[in-house]
Amino acid sequence: MAHGKSQFAVWRCTKCNTPLKTTSYNKNHNDTIAKEMKMFCKKCREQVVAKRKDAKKGN
Ligand SMILES: [Zn+2]
Repeated sequence: MAHGKSQFAVWRCTKCNTPLKTTSYNKNHNDTIAKEMKMFCKKCREQVVAKRKDAKKGN
C-alpha cells in the first residue's frame, strides 16, 4: 500500500475564471479523475464548464 500524497486541484469557471471549488485527490488516480466538470457558477448564475487546475503547495 503506497502512501499517496494528496494533490490539490482548483476548479475554475471557463467563462469568468472564478475559482468554484477546491478538491483534493490522490495523484495515483489522476487519470481516472475528470478534468472538466459542469458546475454552477454564482458569478455567471448558470451552469458552466469548470476546468481542473492542479495547485501545488509552495514552501
Ligand atoms: Zn463564471
